[in-house]
Amino acid sequence: MKIAIVGGGSAGLCAAIAAAGKNANVTVFERNDKVGKKILVTGNGKCNLSNTDLSSGYYYSKDSEFIDRAFLRFGLNETCAFFNGLGLLLAEKRGGIYPHSEQASAVLDALRFEALTLGVNIKEGCFVKDIEKDERKPGRYKVIYDTSKEETVKTLSDSFDRVIITTGGKAAPKTGSDGNGIKLAQRLGEKCSKLYPALGGVKCEGDFWKSISGVRCYATFKMIGDTSGEGESSGELQLTDYGISGIPVFCISRLIAEEVDKKGKSEIEIDLFADLDEETLLRELSSRILILNDRTYEQILNGFLNKKLSFFVLKMCNLKPSDIAVGDLDTLKKIVNKVKHLRVIATGVNGFDQAQTTAGGILLSEINDDFESIKNPGIFYAGEILDVDGICGGYNLQWAWSSGHIAGEAAAKC
Ligand SMILES: Cc1cc2nc3c(=O)[nH]c(=O)nc-3n(C[C@H](O)[C@H](O)[C@H](O)COP(=O)(O)OP(=O)(O)OC[C@H]3O[C@@H](n4cnc5c(N)ncnc54)[C@H](O)[C@@H]3O)c2cc1C
Repeated sequence: MKIAIVGGGSAGLCAAIAAAGKNANVTVFERNDKVGKKILVTGNGKCNLSNTDLSSGYYYSKDSEFIDRAFLRFGLNETCAFFNGLGLLLAEKRGGIYPHSEQASAVLDALRFEALTLGVNIKEGCFVKDIEKDERKPGRYKVIYDTSKEETVKTLSDSFDRVIITTGGKAAPKTGSDGNGIKLAQRLGEKCSKLYPALGGVKCEGDFWKSISGVRCYATFKMIGDTSGEGESSGELQLTDYGISGIPVFCISRLIAEEVDKKGKSEIEIDLFADLDEETLLRELSSRILILNDRTYEQILNGFLNKKLSFFVLKMCNLKPSDIAVGDLDTLKKIVNKVKHLRVIATGVNGFDQAQTTAGGILLSEINDDFESIKNPGIFYAGEILDVDGICGGYNLQWAWSSGHIAGEAAAKC
């Protein structure tokens, strides 16, 4: 069985190992001069490759049962066993699975060494520009690619029994995934949903962001009007000069992108003091004013919030940090209301160049449970190119391993 894998990222390398492990003759085509460029930047260079709490509930897709069926075949246990089998020691940190060395390069090395040991032909610097039915050999596909290894670009082609397309989505195009693979699949007749950048920062209205840029605090978020519960998240918020960022923002950014696309904006409520309810916070502030006589608001709020953030809240309430704090209920309620229900208007999300993943892709209804195209038997898809995107926490790499491994093994079957 001669198999071509288009794209040497996480899904592609995992598929290559799975297929070669079943005695297939595997060639990986990678446009970059090295495979796995994106793996190296994952998890801030530490590579959060899976999560102990794994289910379709952590993914956006139109068919969660498809995802659960895939995890039954190749889920967390199989992924850990796979990497242990490659000699990679893993460690768990707050549910996330990482290489023990906390070096993403260790994951890439393990995959590359195994692929080479199994005799996988890794063709780097080869950009696949088309895949066609091989008219001379029915049932096979012709992979047409440009090779830039020599000084001049040469166009070559080769014929394969099976082709696995693992070109990624459009996120982080500097790593090689710029959406060209999706166009290639569309030329083969596959249907694709609209693409949005996901797991990225959110741009917001207002000229005050510079004054609070750099502040980090624990917060909870709610998209106004969301009834599904999907538009809620919590964790460490990062304030930037353009709006909001950080893992909890990343997790709902794809929903914000969709809403902004449809309505032009999206309203978000932020609770900047999520560990105390409104009444308790009000009581705390009142008692501080009673005990600390004749103190300014700056002094009263000292230690409650980051100083930049307290000044910002006071400004929103038309108060000055140097004003003497008065214990009248209305003023205190105004402050507490801003802290607990800060409303911001999102006007967009950061683009694909800063996103960690792609929302949307080739529809799951275009493939069967082996990740094989229904329209084009012999063509398989795996990884981010598919219409599945996970939240932060190792879920996107897990999808790449699961889909890549299943597709690789299935493609190698005679
Ligand atoms: C900064 C950052 C941090 C991240 N951190 C994490 C994390 O910690 N945990 C997690 O789970 N996920 C993380 N992700 C997401 C995760 O890395 C991706 O979802 C996953 O790598 C997708 O794998 P893939 O193989 O489908 O695509 P990719 O990894 O994008 O691989 C696609 C490959 O195909 C090649 N290619 C594209 N077109 C062609 C062509 N025509 N011919 C030949 N080759 C081609 C590309 O060069 C690329 O090497 C992160 C992403 C980013 C950008």
